[in-house]
Order: sequence, then structure tokens, then C-alpha cells
Amino acid sequence: MSRYFMCPDCGHRMKKIDSENYYCPFCDPFGSEDEERLPLSEAALIWGSSGEDEDYTFGYSEEELRNELYGG
Ligand SMILES: [Zn+2]
Repeated sequence: MSRYFMCPDCGHRMKKIDSENYYCPFCDPFGSEDEERLPLSEAALIWGSSGEDEDYTFGYSEEELRNELYGG
């Protein structure tokens, strides 16, 4: 009975929301449940105030963060 569904778009296994609803974490923009991604503006502030620590990039590239922080 534990059947899962494959995403028709990318072929990845879809995640279950409830008994009838599934989503694809690779295609669905609302699919990030583990890591809620910070907005770039906030991530850049934290990254900047951490001394540009690479542990605080929050999934953004340094270039993105730098552009956000210093304008670009
Ligand atoms: Zn997909």
C-alpha cells in the first residue's frame, strides 16, 4: 500500500503532504521543508556580519551575497 509517486516532470520521487497530495521537492518551489531558505537580503546581512564566513552563505554564492550587501 505504501506507494509513492514519481514526478512527471523530473522523475524524482515525490514527497507526501497528506494522503492525497504529493509534491516534488525538485520542481515545487514550496518544497523545501527541512531548510527554509532565508531571503537573500537577510542572508547577506548575516553573512556580512559574520565576517563573510563561508558557513553562513545559506546556500547562496559569495557573489550573490556580496552583490546584495555592497550593491551590484
Ligand atoms: Zn520534479
